[in-house]
Amino acid sequence: MIVRLFCPKCALEASKEIKGSLDIEVPVPVSQLADDGRYEVRCGIGHECTVILDNIKFELLFEMGLNAMFDGYPREAVSSFTSSLERFYEFYWRVAMHHAGVPTAELDQAWKPMSKMSERQLGAFITASMVLAGSKPRLLNPNKQVPFRNSVIHNGYVPTKAEAIEFGNTVMELIFEGLDQLRELDSSSLMETYQIMSPRDYEEGENSEDSDELVGCVNILTAIDVRNPPKGDDQRVGDVGAQIKRIGYERQPMKMQLLTEQEMHRHHPDRVRVQDDE
Ligand SMILES: [Zn+2]
Repeated sequence: MIVRLFCPKCALEASKEIKGSLDIEVPVPVSQLADDGRYEVRCGIGHECTVILDNIKFELLFEMGLNAMFDGYPREAVSSFTSSLERFYEFYWRVAMHHAGVPTAELDQAWKPMSKMSERQLGAFITASMVLAGSKPRLLNPNKQVPFRNSVIHNGYVPTKAEAIEFGNTVMELIFEGLDQLRELDSSSLMETYQIMSPRDYEEGENSEDSDELVGCVNILTAIDVRNPPKGDDQRVGDVGAQIKRIGYERQPMKMQLLTEQEMHRHHPDRVRVQDDE
């Protein structure tokens, strides 16, 4: 999966010329997805900057699955959908624990012995749902989707496109159900947990006053999107089949849109933040 980034220096210069929101032509470097969300960008005119991708793992993993579907790799798609669901379990657990008042450092310690064991994580998720919502969450079907996933992940089974789409749709439904629940029960714990898990530093900010380095921040809108869930006539509305079409559309060349901090709260594709507190 390719992410479209931008050069913060070029973008800052462009934003000085015209105040407010604007469509601009800035060189848009692209990169392969990086695990830590940090990208060293070198633009066409030689600026070297850092850009942070302000998205969390399960959003990106699901998007990687969609990209794999678009590219004709259903096996890789099932693998990414599976990882997305597992990282969602962790997210849900962290929101529930945040809701219960457990400090983040304690959470990190508690997660460690579960971090390599997906069955323990599933147990944590089910327990968190019992505590938070008072009911057992919907899970993958143990007679159908679980053996399917295991045969793909562990036995090298190559699924058909239709099987991968069906599996992806189920994962998407499960995550949507969980996110809707979290939004309803404790949206502030949801948002705070998101900020803690994002590579963006929400506490310090990326651009400190005594640093010459300009750090940019970009958020990509995803099919599974914690903060900006698709609704209305958004291109991201729809099942996996519809999302695959969207991926094709998004791979066409596009302009970037520069937004102020206030405008960030509205819905826009390819949102880029260039100025901090100015
Ligand atoms: Zn530049």
